[in-house]
Amino acid sequence: MRNRWDENEAPADGDLLDQCVYVSRLLGADPDLVLHGGGNTSVKTTTRDALGRHVDSLLVKGSGWDLASIERPGFAPLRLERLREIVQAESLSDSEMMNELRCALLDARAPDPSVETLLHTLIPDTFVLHTHADAVLKLTNLDDGEARIREALGDDLIVVPYVMPGFDLAKYCRELLGRVSGALPRTMVLLRHGVFTYGDSARIAYDRMIEVVGRAEQYIGEHAQATPSAPTLTQTPTPMPTPTPATRSQAAPDILEVASLREAISRVAGVPMIATRSTDATSAAFCHRADLATVSQQGPATPDHVIRTKRLPMVGRDVDTYAKGYVAYYEAQESRSPDTPLKMLDPAPRIALDPELGLVAFGRRPKDADIAADVYRHTIGIVEDAEQLGGYRALSAEDIFAVEYWELEQAKLRRAGAPPEFAGEVALVTGAASGIGKGCVKALLGRGAAVVGLDIDEGVTTTAPGPDYLGIVTDVTDPAAVKDAIAQAVDRFGGIDMLIASAGIFGPSRAMAEFDPRQWRTTLSVNTEAFADLLAQTHGLLKRAPRYGRVVLIGSKNAAAPGPGAAAYSASKAAATQLARVAALEWAPDGIRVNTVHPDAVFDTGLWSAEVIEARATHYGMTVEEYKQRNLLHTEVTSDVVGTVVADLCGPAFRATTGAQIPVDGGSDRII
Ligand SMILES: [Zn+2]
Repeated sequence: MRNRWDENEAPADGDLLDQCVYVSRLLGADPDLVLHGGGNTSVKTTTRDALGRHVDSLLVKGSGWDLASIERPGFAPLRLERLREIVQAESLSDSEMMNELRCALLDARAPDPSVETLLHTLIPDTFVLHTHADAVLKLTNLDDGEARIREALGDDLIVVPYVMPGFDLAKYCRELLGRVSGALPRTMVLLRHGVFTYGDSARIAYDRMIEVVGRAEQYIGEHAQATPSAPTLTQTPTPMPTPTPATRSQAAPDILEVASLREAISRVAGVPMIATRSTDATSAAFCHRADLATVSQQGPATPDHVIRTKRLPMVGRDVDTYAKGYVAYYEAQESRSPDTPLKMLDPAPRIALDPELGLVAFGRRPKDADIAADVYRHTIGIVEDAEQLGGYRALSAEDIFAVEYWELEQAKLRRAGAPPEFAGEVALVTGAASGIGKGCVKALLGRGAAVVGLDIDEGVTTTAPGPDYLGIVTDVTDPAAVKDAIAQAVDRFGGIDMLIASAGIFGPSRAMAEFDPRQWRTTLSVNTEAFADLLAQTHGLLKRAPRYGRVVLIGSKNAAAPGPGAAAYSASKAAATQLARVAALEWAPDGIRVNTVHPDAVFDTGLWSAEVIEARATHYGMTVEEYKQRNLLHTEVTSDVVGTVVADLCGPAFRATTGAQIPVDGGSDRII
């Protein structure tokens, strides 16, 4: 366990909140300590109120903030005196506790204080740090967890059995700490939950955290290998390397297998879901364990992971059986407290462990799937080491259910607004580095889709930031390269629901009398053949789209109203338009809608170099300015305008439209 404290970076002693921010970020930087919003920190200080009085206060991590990136406004300032009264309550529901905490705030704009705020109040030290360190979870998710953690960490330790986080845990600790005579031991371990360290400086509390987690790691290193019951593998695991153009096609499973799994998951979840496949060797090896069906069915290593991964992963791909199991678990647990009305979460798994596909994580958005995958990869490490230490034993289904269906979590669900239109859906956009392709990427991301952008231009990798976007440098005229890019798209997001064919070239103006077969072939290969190839390669995926598949071809006004000097371009777009119409006919039974938009004179695109604009203007006997404004509405048609039309065409308003051709040209008397 690396100690990341750097005296040169640490803020000077003056401002305690700055130090708390610094130490929180150090903890957040280490995924072996906390993951994605897990853990919390606090500092006791004085805060000036609006009347200029100094009030003793506790500044604690606010919910919704991540320790890795927390800033000063991420800490909720609370009146310490009031907290000390609240923690003495005989009983409070967690909703009542949260209400009391909000009433104790010194700033109404502050985020909701951590649910572990009262526990921070009970510890007298200035700085209190709490993590869900992997090493502590490895030792405390054992039958003899308490003995093991005492053996590893020594005497200066207080061990708390598992109690549901929130008021009950605070009350339990109030009584436990009340019985401690003399100084409080320097470390508090919560079995199957995590660890607290504290001190009168941020450095002391942090050093202590690193020291105890380091000791736990050392103990595991010394004891894990010695146990004879090491797991046996059914076969030597096939390591799944990170996909690259050279290796992806040999090592990976059929993309349709992944897309079918995602389709089934989405059906059971009732909404489209993203599926992301982890290709690391450790996850692959875990999915090949002979005892996978038992060792993976224990539960999460710390209760709040249930929100990310569900209690159990699915082994294999039988989604319906998993869902039945989930409903049975829900009904059995719910009946224990019939007075509390609950709303069942969707019964689809968030993690699948499959020998062939490896670890696949699911989520409503890519970020959710990524977090589930991250959390589960850490769970694998915890389970494997705990198995070597004698056997991984997680919390009971009852304890996990209590957190999964916690009143605070249910309230969060009720507050959450409607998800964006394309949440959980995936679009593939060609020509995504610039112009109309980029406009489509922007519009689709804006409506919540995950987007894969292809372009021969390297700029495609930075068209948009992750995690909703993946840009792949691809020559769309090379079917093998396209195949590989599609496979990467499926590894990343699980399928393709919308295909937007925007890659295109215009070429220099050339009269028919000067026909150039090479230019003809190049233009046709990008504008027409590549589209045909994309249609063929994505059909199986579009057919498995959770909602329905959509294709939008970026055609051109030239398909219906060709321009002199643009023979190859006009013919290529007319041919592509025919391909789209044939696809609309053939794929209607699969529920796939195929439509074409015909933009014209969109000048913020890669097609329109200054020379091309000038050449076209000359053909029409116009100045460049006249040429740019020659549409009937005298309106400017930008890439964003086209992107919006494309996104609308993919949306539910056009659910009854296929084979259509829609001009986006400001009005043209040659079309109307
Ligand atoms: Zn915790």
